[in-house]
Amino acid sequence: MPTQESSTPAQIVGAGFAGSVVARELVEAGHQACVIDKRLHIAGNAYDETDAHGVLVHRYAPHTFHTNGGHIFEYLSRFTEWLPYEHRVLGIVDGKRYPFPINRNTLNQLYDMDLDESGAEAFFERVREPREPALTREDVVLNSVGRDLYEKFFLNHTRKQWGLDASELKAGVAARIPARSNIDDRYFTDTLQVIPKHGYTQLFENILDQPNITVELEVDFENIRGEAKTSRTVYTGPIDAYFKYCFSRPPYRSLRFEHGHLPNVAHYQKVGTVNYPNDHAYASITEFKHLTGQRHTGTSIVREYPQEDGPPYYPIPRAENEALFKRHEELARQEPNITFVGRLAQYRYYNMDQVVGAAPAAAKRIIG
Ligand code: FAD
Repeated sequence: MPTQESSTPAQIVGAGFAGSVVARELVEAGHQACVIDKRLHIAGNAYDETDAHGVLVHRYAPHTFHTNGGHIFEYLSRFTEWLPYEHRVLGIVDGKRYPFPINRNTLNQLYDMDLDESGAEAFFERVREPREPALTREDVVLNSVGRDLYEKFFLNHTRKQWGLDASELKAGVAARIPARSNIDDRYFTDTLQVIPKHGYTQLFENILDQPNITVELEVDFENIRGEAKTSRTVYTGPIDAYFKYCFSRPPYRSLRFEHGHLPNVAHYQKVGTVNYPNDHAYASITEFKHLTGQRHTGTSIVREYPQEDGPPYYPIPRAENEALFKRHEELARQEPNITFVGRLAQYRYYNMDQVVGAAPAAAKRIIG
């Protein structure tokens, strides 16, 4: 049973996956929750909406749900039906499209070869530049695919995406995109790959649809700090903002999204996302109809332009940034009534399933 103290609503800052799932868990345990978000909408970066032309688009870049966590999929299945969706990506090199991540077909098409699986393994073994230990993104990529593939697919793309050389980034980022000797051209290999049948925003509406959850939009925590009558705050915004930038700020990579619509074009490109590692200021184009399976006479796309300034999207994986985050984390430990959870509060690149998986544990810590 909730205690007297817990009968005041918990204040949840952020209506993304972290805040929404914690709020749901709290009210299911008998508490009340007041969720605030400074944006005009719920769903955080997973927000999707029907654009002016009637096409369902993801406002903050494509979000594809993939997980090996059956329990996370089951949990979210309470709030949505799903459509199967396996994301596929092509990379344009010297004007031609190749499967990405690099697989055997990429090698055969690029170098006009006819390798089988063991031939592809032998090829990678021949061209790789062994790096022991592989500490940076450059090390990891050279170690697995060698110089030529690195220069064609990764060198410029990394600079564009991160504003840094691959040798300046920690190894973890490259581990997301291994090379394959088979012909699996899916971007992810997780056992469950789906998309919410009626979109992410509706999934969030269902999570938050509880009498004991109130949602207040366009409310910035900075403007109401200390005003709420609550014994517990769950904070999913940037941790440095919570501590009023008392140290220097851990840097983020931002993005600008240029959405567009092409009337009377059934499909703009062959797959969900096409990467442009070497050309243009944008890093990729995504066509939403591939993701959602929507039928429409036209099609909507988004170009992603990586940039330094703007909303915080990607924590930059460098040792000094993590050290700076740790200093914030130390301060967070001294705040017994605040729980810091989610991508921005934990300064980690988390996929949606990781955030959903972590939120119930955060709620349990609050419930005690
Ligand atoms: P968010 O979704 O960022 O939610 C945090 C919320 O807090 C925001 O709505 C924000 O407005 C609010 N907030 C912040 N500060 C304040 C404040 N002071 N006052 C009030 N509200 C505040 N994951 C996948 O699994 N698959 C993908 O395909 C995928 N693609 C991605 C593409 C991009 C470009 C990005 C950036 C991320 C992608 N992700 C993807 C990751 C996914 O977006 C995150 O895992 C997920 O959104 C994290 O949820 P969250 O609640 O921690 O953060």
